Amino acid sequence: MSVTGPLTWPLVSFEDRMATVDFRVSSRAHITLDSSVCRDCPARACIVACPANLFVPTSDGGMLFNYEQCFECGTCYMVCNGEGAISWSYPEGGHGVAFKRS
Ligand code: SF4
Ligand code: SF4
Repeated sequence: MSVTGPLTWPLVSFEDRMATVDFRVSSRAHITLDSSVCRDCPARACIVACPANLFVPTSDGGMLFNYEQCFECGTCYMVCNGEGAISWSYPEGGHGVAFKRS
């Protein structure tokens, strides 16, 4: 009788993850952040939830965000508990993330 354990996946470094994609950056930000809301956010889940590490806390309690290397996964929008902190949309056609061909 074969016994199977829980499914596991190999760990992928941040550099290897980013090396699989290209970003066709639009001049229009598809995600915008009202960082004034972030100052009163107790959880700040976006920092650990974003797989592209695009949310960076500042020493004065604010939050820096850069949309240019976004995977468009929507995780930040799902985990944000700040009312109206994140405005999310897809990039306009021809822009955004694309997987590289191997
Ligand atoms: S979870 Fe939302 S409100 Fe909180 S720090 Fe992140 S973006 Fe700002
Ligand atoms: S959509 Fe995903 S990759 Fe883009 S900022 Fe939000 S969590 Fe990060």
